[in-house]
Amino acid sequence: MENTLAFAQLQDQQDSLAPFRAEFLFPQTAEEKPVVYLCGNSLGLQPKGAEQALKIELEDWAKFGVDGHFQGRKPWFHYHKFLTDYAAEVVGAQPIEVVVMNQLTVNLHLLFASFYRPNGPRYKIIMEAGAFPSDMYAVESQVIQFGYSYDDAVIELAPRPGEHSLRNEDILQALEEHKNEIALVFFSGVQYFTGQYFDIPSITQKAHEVGALAGFDLAHAAGNIDLQLHQWGVDFAAWCSYKYLNSGPGNVSGIFVHETHGLDPSTFRLAGWWGHKEDVRFQMKRGYIPEPGAAGWQLSNAPVFGMAVHLSSLELFHKAGMSNLRAKSQRLTAYLELCIQDAQAQNPDLELQLITPKSRGAQLSLLTDDHGKQVFEHLEKQGIIADWREPNVIRMAPVPMYNSFEDVYKVGQALQSYRKA
Ligand SMILES: *Cc1c(COP(=O)(O)O)cnc(C)c1O
Repeated sequence: MENTLAFAQLQDQQDSLAPFRAEFLFPQTAEEKPVVYLCGNSLGLQPKGAEQALKIELEDWAKFGVDGHFQGRKPWFHYHKFLTDYAAEVVGAQPIEVVVMNQLTVNLHLLFASFYRPNGPRYKIIMEAGAFPSDMYAVESQVIQFGYSYDDAVIELAPRPGEHSLRNEDILQALEEHKNEIALVFFSGVQYFTGQYFDIPSITQKAHEVGALAGFDLAHAAGNIDLQLHQWGVDFAAWCSYKYLNSGPGNVSGIFVHETHGLDPSTFRLAGWWGHKEDVRFQMKRGYIPEPGAAGWQLSNAPVFGMAVHLSSLELFHKAGMSNLRAKSQRLTAYLELCIQDAQAQNPDLELQLITPKSRGAQLSLLTDDHGKQVFEHLEKQGIIADWREPNVIRMAPVPMYNSFEDVYKVGQALQSYRKA
């Protein structure tokens, strides 16, 4: 790979996914040029099809009122089903193992209710240190609910001194060490801060070997990594739709429940009417009978407007294919790494340390010195939207769905032109 404009443009010409860029709306700079958007790890861009998808539902509501549940173009009664196959494709699941509902943290609690079942000495949750705050708070309240304290019941695994990411061998070793006390192994798929992609299959396998369950928060992995949740035997997972899945701020979440649990009616779940068996749902009788599979975790009827936008985005993932996206992503991210390295080598004013390990998705995290914020602001002035995480990290995510090699080349150029104030 070469850090030249000609090389970048040639890659874009040869990229079979390049046409997807035109399916998205890009924010503009003050000079009304599209920005280089590297923030898809935080909030993905809007697919052009979102507006039309939403309009259809508003029109059907206007036209049919309550009858839209059965007479609309996409009847609301079944609405979640329109998303299931595509969502299952994104995470490598059987359709029966997936449903789209609620939002991410809510779903984590619902899944903990089923899969964090402390039993005698086996009551601990093992997770990465520095997990996303919502996950820490969710886990904290879960263990407190059973009368434990966070410090006692949660084992946090931190990188070795001087290192920034966890070694997989250390994770497996910790599972072995605590093998008689762990109820649940709960990790992110891709760590939001460092960008580390955890080895989900080996963590899952080891969890099962020691008699624990394995669950994953895939907020930064869904739509980013080519996941195979079914095959890997993951017990449960949840993700949001507004990061790599480009479905808009705060939009709906997806869950995965492995069929071994989802088809077992004795798996405990918090129940609501929309998870009740569909053919008898409207008999309004006492006695909860779950729908088979992940659909049996639904509580409420589907929030159709958000789901419609999510569906319009999932259609693009279906067309592009996760494995194609992942293949491009690996090259695009490697190219970003190269352009950053070149900028570092040529610009003595730049102090950036890449803390993302090789096992990663689309995101690179750069640890900065005390001028980090200035580097970030310099990028902004050049029309490059990255994101800043306190205290001193710049995250950049070249997203294969809509970012180009030329975008990445421009980042390298902008870094080269940075001068310390
Ligand atoms: C983004 C993110 C969340 C956000 O949770 P919401 O319930 O969607 O607000 C939770 N966990 C992780 C790991 C995240 O990256």
